[in-house]
Amino acid sequence: MTTDEDLRRRAVQLVSLLRRANYAYYILDKPEMSDAEWDRLFRELQQLERAHPELRAADSPTLRIGAEPASALTKHRHRVPMLSLSNAFDDDELAAWELRITKLVPEVAEAGYQLELKIDGAAVNLTYEDGIFTVGATRGNGVVGENITANLRTIPDIPLRLEGTGSPAVMEIRGEIYFPLSNFARLNERRVARGEERFANPRNAAAGSLRQLDPKITRERGLRFFAFHIESDDLPATTTQHEALDQLESWGFRVAPHRRHVASLEEAQKAAAEFEALIPTIDFEADGVVVKVDRLALHEALGAIGGREPRWAIARKFAPEVAVTKLLDIRINVGRTGALNPWAVLEPVEIGGVTVSRATLHNMDLIAAKDIRIGDFVEVTRAGEVIPQVLGPLHERRPADAEPYLPPTTCPACDFPVERPEGEVAHYCPNASCPGRLLEAITHFASRGALDIRGLGNQRVMQLHEAGLIADVGDLYALTPDRLQALEGFGEKAASQLVDAIAASKTQPLSRLLFAIGIRHVGAEGAKSLARSFRTIDALMAASEDDTAAVDGIGPTIAQAVASFFAEPKNRGLIERFRACGVTLEETETGTATGSTLIGQTFVLTGTLPNFSRAEAKALIEQAGGRVSPSLSKNTTALVVGESPGSKAEKARSLGVAQLDEAGLLRRIADDT
Ligand SMILES: [Zn+2]
Repeated sequence: MTTDEDLRRRAVQLVSLLRRANYAYYILDKPEMSDAEWDRLFRELQQLERAHPELRAADSPTLRIGAEPASALTKHRHRVPMLSLSNAFDDDELAAWELRITKLVPEVAEAGYQLELKIDGAAVNLTYEDGIFTVGATRGNGVVGENITANLRTIPDIPLRLEGTGSPAVMEIRGEIYFPLSNFARLNERRVARGEERFANPRNAAAGSLRQLDPKITRERGLRFFAFHIESDDLPATTTQHEALDQLESWGFRVAPHRRHVASLEEAQKAAAEFEALIPTIDFEADGVVVKVDRLALHEALGAIGGREPRWAIARKFAPEVAVTKLLDIRINVGRTGALNPWAVLEPVEIGGVTVSRATLHNMDLIAAKDIRIGDFVEVTRAGEVIPQVLGPLHERRPADAEPYLPPTTCPACDFPVERPEGEVAHYCPNASCPGRLLEAITHFASRGALDIRGLGNQRVMQLHEAGLIADVGDLYALTPDRLQALEGFGEKAASQLVDAIAASKTQPLSRLLFAIGIRHVGAEGAKSLARSFRTIDALMAASEDDTAAVDGIGPTIAQAVASFFAEPKNRGLIERFRACGVTLEETETGTATGSTLIGQTFVLTGTLPNFSRAEAKALIEQAGGRVSPSLSKNTTALVVGESPGSKAEKARSLGVAQLDEAGLLRRIADDT
């Protein structure tokens, strides 16, 4: 039996949950709840309040949609309030909507409907005066938003001046700012490379990007805009929504693709399913189809509920791509570079027609930031990402005995103490021979971009490992045809072919080897830069972090990773094993270097040179195969001295390092003897 007291308590709880989620979403830009869950709770509260009006609290989120603007940006009052769509979650609800509005305005049924994809981004309002973009604002609470004009001006598809003529003296254009999924993926890649936290989803990243105080940051993010509504007292000769969209396009706006005009609700229902099937083909997130009464005159006749939800439009939502399920366990997978990747074991749940039982948790920081615990009910999504991901826990459903998750201090595969480089979100196992890293590491070592050992793919690597023939990449060079022939699937020919291929890999240049051994952050390009600059692995191992960081295209993050890789005795041991079996440990490809007179020589620049800038001199030295270091050491070949040299000349003298002027350097570069 549900008592009045139960209902009252539920209403209070819903208000509190929704208020907190609203705050997290709109003010903090850190969502705690999915739209699907929010919609569900909001509808429950709406229904409760409808049935028991006395339960409606003075601060109920149903009284308003949205939140107060954040204080850092100035406020902007919309000339006409920005409405917020009500939702239909299935065809029956869509039919019920038509029934409701037809009762109010019977002509609706004959007017036809305009269908548009519902973009999952951030709604904005753009004011145009005499065809010039003057003010842009976020939606805010629908009445007052934040002035983000400077940020919006950086978005390429918002016209600063309208094309053509015939625009009203003053009007507001409503539309959606969104993140193209390709831009979003690139942004996250950049963030991960810089050791920053990934953005959880494109919509919140778009909202956060819009509210930056520095418009440059907004511009770099790569946001885009679709227009969908004209708000004006004196529209040009536009009588329907589909004409309004054409008008927007003629003014230079982009309108979301796949819009369609249909004659009846039945057609709209059919079309909604077709729109849903388009989702995998579009480069942005859309969570439904907006069904609008096409004739604009009827919009006025229908009006809005409570002044905020228009009766003339409704969002037919797609099936949610977010599900709630129980987090059974957190496990850790050790990647090729030793990164510890936490993943979730889930009670199987269906998301968008696919059963999901595991999902990524990205990194330990995310688990800590969201306080995800084993035993929690968590939200899981597949939207925008191929691999399912855990969004976060439902705190109100947490079991009493759930304890905070503690990241491991030792590698789960080899027990080595875990490392956590400063400024990075990932934890690492530093052990190059870690069995957890092994299979992936060997496969990478043999892969095409690395040492290119034909016939040594993932399956073979696994087979050799299981047979006890290889424990790390160094063991590859000890393989003999005899040993391989004892294995299933290896005839005499295949065995000797593989051994030959492995032997041939010994002559690959140093750049390939540096990429192959899997130093964190060192990709194929970085390995080339290092090899070109240092020429031998001994020079690289002896180099200071500063020296390495000074190489073009390297920088402090890679330099630190290189230093910590070679600081590990196991890794140094691996290099010695390579040396013992004749693997090439020097660069044999000259790459783009045009000269070779300075190969193996290191220079330090000081003072102002008469004819070259610092950067030009550095480029000259590097083109001749030499290297420029920021600091002097005994290994420095020469100090290149310009005017006002400072203390370096003194230091060079005390170290016994030769000194050259610009002319001396040029002579050395030109010297071909
Ligand atoms: Zn390990």
